[in-house]
Amino acid sequence: MPAAWTPSLETLTARRDITHAHFVPGDTVVIPTGVADGHLSGDVMTIVAPSWHTPTDEDGWRLRNPKGGERTFITAHPRYMIHLSRHCPDCLIYRRALEDYVLPKVPSASGSFDCGWYSLTHLNQLVHRADARGGR
Ligand SMILES: [Zn+2]
Repeated sequence: MPAAWTPSLETLTARRDITHAHFVPGDTVVIPTGVADGHLSGDVMTIVAPSWHTPTDEDGWRLRNPKGGERTFITAHPRYMIHLSRHCPDCLIYRRALEDYVLPKVPSASGSFDCGWYSLTHLNQLVHRADARGGR
């Protein structure tokens, strides 16, 4: 991570307005977690089934991450997810907004790094920093 960059609270995701029903099992999504060579990067996952997202007490989705190792199955909130499997204007707008927020803060030759927005609970629930402030 570049020295000039701190994973300052990224508030776009917390304010994103997206419904649970926007996604369906079988969709391929990406959860942006960092930057690689001047672009957003993240893990590509497949939606498996509805699942309760305990950190927010809201409906979430169970995802399968083929590169997840011991954490192949995690639960995420719909607003963390961006559609890859189909052209989706709603997800594209969010992705562009995130790029506009993040990429200008990152030196061009900074390589790949995780922005530190997300953590995983011991129950394999993915939590965004903005959602973790409640301390649950
Ligand atoms: Zn979408």
